[in-house]
Amino acid sequence: MNYSHFGRKFTQPNGITQLMEDLGKAKSSNNPDIVMLGGGNPASVPHVNTVFINELNCLVKNNKITQIMGLYDGPTGNDEFRTALANQLNREFAWGVTEQNIALGNGSQANFFVLFNMLAGKMNDGSTKRILFPLAPEYVGYADQGLTNDMFVAIKPDIEIINTDNGSKQFKYLIDFKAVEKVLTADSSISALCVSRPTNPTGNVITDEEVNQLNLLAEQYNIPLIIDNAYGDPFPGCIYTDANLTWNSNIILCMSLSKLGLPGLRTGIVVANNTVIKAIGRVNGAMVLAPNSFGPSLITRLINNDELLPLCKNSILPFYKNKAQVAINLFDKIFADLPVYLHKVEGAFFIWLWFKESKITSEQLYQKLKKQDVYIIPGHNFFIGIEDSWEHKHQCVRINYATDEATLKKGLEAIRALMT
Ligand code: PLP
Repeated sequence: MNYSHFGRKFTQPNGITQLMEDLGKAKSSNNPDIVMLGGGNPASVPHVNTVFINELNCLVKNNKITQIMGLYDGPTGNDEFRTALANQLNREFAWGVTEQNIALGNGSQANFFVLFNMLAGKMNDGSTKRILFPLAPEYVGYADQGLTNDMFVAIKPDIEIINTDNGSKQFKYLIDFKAVEKVLTADSSISALCVSRPTNPTGNVITDEEVNQLNLLAEQYNIPLIIDNAYGDPFPGCIYTDANLTWNSNIILCMSLSKLGLPGLRTGIVVANNTVIKAIGRVNGAMVLAPNSFGPSLITRLINNDELLPLCKNSILPFYKNKAQVAINLFDKIFADLPVYLHKVEGAFFIWLWFKESKITSEQLYQKLKKQDVYIIPGHNFFIGIEDSWEHKHQCVRINYATDEATLKKGLEAIRALMT
């Protein structure tokens, strides 16, 4: 097949698709001994699941299903949901937004594809623009989204070793603002900043001060700041540290229903100024006519009746916070005598381990673990745009801890056995 530039770029194999295929095969093999710590699936939180099933039953009882399945929404998505969400955001944060500041898409992933390619790539004047990730490592799902090559530039983090009270070996990535400013000053091709908060893969929640500084830089250079809030407040609210959510008309805030436990309903949300929202609507119209109606319809009543945020605070947050503590305790025990460091667990549901003196790369570790039916994600995939020669890039792995303790323990022990 003679593919176009687009066809070639998006049909060639890439690292993360290969990994996802591995994970998919492992899951469908139905091998009960598989230790699955890769992938980004949320856990099924029993009470939350029951609430969603009840909502579905309500929609059936109230004869809403025919309408949901039988009608297209507008290209920016379901109006009732957008209004409900705008009111919710105003109640929580007093941002003064309306439904005109909200667009939906078929998952955040699809929204990022639209946003990145709308803001960067080949411009009308012949120049090429790029997106800057101020803090590597960053969400691997961005890596292959650009229509042009080399769409992303990333900055290596500062690494802070944390002195914990109990001797737990932990570290935290911080934004190297000097390096960020240097790139922004020297490189006029940067057309947006983008950061995930909480960060997938590390569980980092960049501080309010860091967000504030990024916001000021974005304003100074007249470029938008994209904040990927897939795991953050107000839903699903998987944040275990003090952090406040900020929005203004220069911030493009991306949210999702996925990490509430609804990834199959493919609902991503963009909160932005109306110019951006209208633009997303036009791309949606051309690409998919209208985004999925099911996710928004399932959640609207919960938002209007102020039931969604209590569900997050009282069920989802404690569930993941407890899992995070279990993961930290296991890490402390299993790696106590090895030079292995844990990124401070501040949000989302991953732990990020740094094998500081490892003799094998994270890719080699991944391959060895795979042979034992243990699945993790090797960290180098997340260092988008960072040179291969930086050894730290090959010393980290991501582990999804939204699983049971026995499985996590087995996986961490298998890693330890390969490291000693
Ligand atoms: N952003 C981050 C940081 C993620 O981890 C994910 C999924 O894992 C997404 C965006 C995409 O989410 P979805 O397309 O399911 O809304």
